[in-house]
Amino acid sequence: MLYPVKFRILFCLLFLTFFLTNCHASKKDIHSFANMDEVIITHMDLDLDINFPANQIRGTASLTLDNLTATDSLILDSWGLEIAKVTLDDDDTPVKFLLGKFKKDFGQPLKIEISPSTKIVHIQYKTSPTAEALQWLKPEQTSGKKYPFLFSQSQSIYARTWVPSMDTPSIRFTYNSTVKTDPNLLALMSASNPTEKNENGIYHFKMEQPIPTYLLALAVGDIEFQPLGEISGVYAEPEIIEKAVYEFADTPKMIKAAEKLYGPYKWGRYDILVLPPSFPYGGMENPRLTFATPTILAGDRSLVSLVAHELAHSWSGNLVTNATWDDIWLNEGFTTYFEYRIMEELYGRDYATMIEQIGYQNLKGALNELGYDSPDTKLALDLTGRHPEDTNSSIVYEKGELFLRTLEVTYGKEQFDKFLKTYFDSFAFKTMTSDHFAKYITENLVKDGKRTGKAVLIYEWIFGTGLPDNAYIPDSPEFRKVDVQREAFLKGASATSLNTEGWTTHHWMHFIRVLPTNMSLEQMNELDSAFKFTRLGNSEILFAWFIKAIEHNYREAYPALEHFLLSVGRAKFVAPLYAALAKTKDGKEMAIRIYKKARHGYHPVTYNYVDKILEQ
Ligand SMILES: [Zn+2]
Repeated sequence: MLYPVKFRILFCLLFLTFFLTNCHASKKDIHSFANMDEVIITHMDLDLDINFPANQIRGTASLTLDNLTATDSLILDSWGLEIAKVTLDDDDTPVKFLLGKFKKDFGQPLKIEISPSTKIVHIQYKTSPTAEALQWLKPEQTSGKKYPFLFSQSQSIYARTWVPSMDTPSIRFTYNSTVKTDPNLLALMSASNPTEKNENGIYHFKMEQPIPTYLLALAVGDIEFQPLGEISGVYAEPEIIEKAVYEFADTPKMIKAAEKLYGPYKWGRYDILVLPPSFPYGGMENPRLTFATPTILAGDRSLVSLVAHELAHSWSGNLVTNATWDDIWLNEGFTTYFEYRIMEELYGRDYATMIEQIGYQNLKGALNELGYDSPDTKLALDLTGRHPEDTNSSIVYEKGELFLRTLEVTYGKEQFDKFLKTYFDSFAFKTMTSDHFAKYITENLVKDGKRTGKAVLIYEWIFGTGLPDNAYIPDSPEFRKVDVQREAFLKGASATSLNTEGWTTHHWMHFIRVLPTNMSLEQMNELDSAFKFTRLGNSEILFAWFIKAIEHNYREAYPALEHFLLSVGRAKFVAPLYAALAKTKDGKEMAIRIYKKARHGYHPVTYNYVDKILEQ
């Protein structure tokens, strides 16, 4: 029998108090219904049939179990799945199952009667056409306009909308899969992948390293492959593959740099799949196959830090995984730090500091918005009663990054890198909690480490609100040069007289982002005429400029803004733009008008954000 959560926490506290025992191993994942304390999944065999006209996957999931407590029931996570039949091992006789009460944003528990000796449970099911993880694109939503496209986004708790499973980051399993689709299309997964289409449209996949459910991934479309290096390559629609190959040319160098920092890459291949523009995130670190937004194809390789980020997840996140979503900073904060280190190795400290300082500005913005004493500014979060995505990314990414940077400065690069390398090695293919990490770092770095700076307040950083006093503050010399030019403009120098020679995307982002909110329309116009911001193809500069355009009601940019909102579905851009528009009466009307046209083209992750913004 399971103890209710409250009692289990109480037991943990008692143990901690009296026996100094660490309870991280039994930390309950509040975002899963699964009875993972009793039985776990160790392997999955998937047989999936992709039905484009019906926007539906029909499949069988065969789950191999390790029954820890000889329980006679298996409880899985499911959300919108239609379960047709459940059988056990080699016996084709259907067994009883029960779909429990539906809980908004969580789905419902699927309870299956098993016996203590059951090894494999086979579940035949269909997905809902509105499954949250899946986006079914019509041909006109792709670059080629000829074929439909399907992709999944399982993180955080959406895997349960396309595979019945224990949908928690704390359970890992290997998987094999067979996918049947239209022979005009190529299917790919977070596994060993084909490089070309085959005539029967049947593809086989194998993932030999154990992964949690949120890293299960599938994409099907008119996709081609081109190699980048020995173990890396690009998948994309034929229309954009050349552009993608050019943009990601440094990927082999990034892999080398990452391995030099924190040890061997453990996943075999590292390929990148460029998705259509409605992909809701910048990238998703699906093992062996990063999913990426096409909005980073800037034409000048200036936005590839995103690839460094997703690659870094091959260590922080995919190898050492947050046990629950409360500890997501262990995935994202570590990865952001690692991303900046890869960028530093490849392009130098000055370049990496610009990216880090933009992150720091975002963090300060988030702290000011939430309030420095808000519990949501802690690294170790308490998401009880909330969706895992109800977190502020600047806190988990950038405060987490800053913590690690502060450790690096305090203990020296050499010592801190050694510590991190050992950490990744020691906990490879395992999970980690904030409590466990605090204890581990106290014993393995703080106690034995030679400090070069002030003491690092480990517990204050992880469990405290706001920003500790010893926080490292990034200071980019390049941005100081940009500040001089911006100030000159604001004091009356003409835009064309500014010295912008050699500026990269990040110089321009900083130039625009720090512009005041009270400029005249003449000044906005002058900048736009001189630098053609409204007409640029670079998504990051364009986004920064649109925010300024909305702040100043600079209408010349609005047709381009509307076009951007109708063609891009990346939540990082789309949600803040609607939010900025919604702050003014005229803007809100415009936002609602555009959103009516745009919503059907967005992934559920994106429209769920925007629905909330525009409802207010
Ligand atoms: Zn990430």
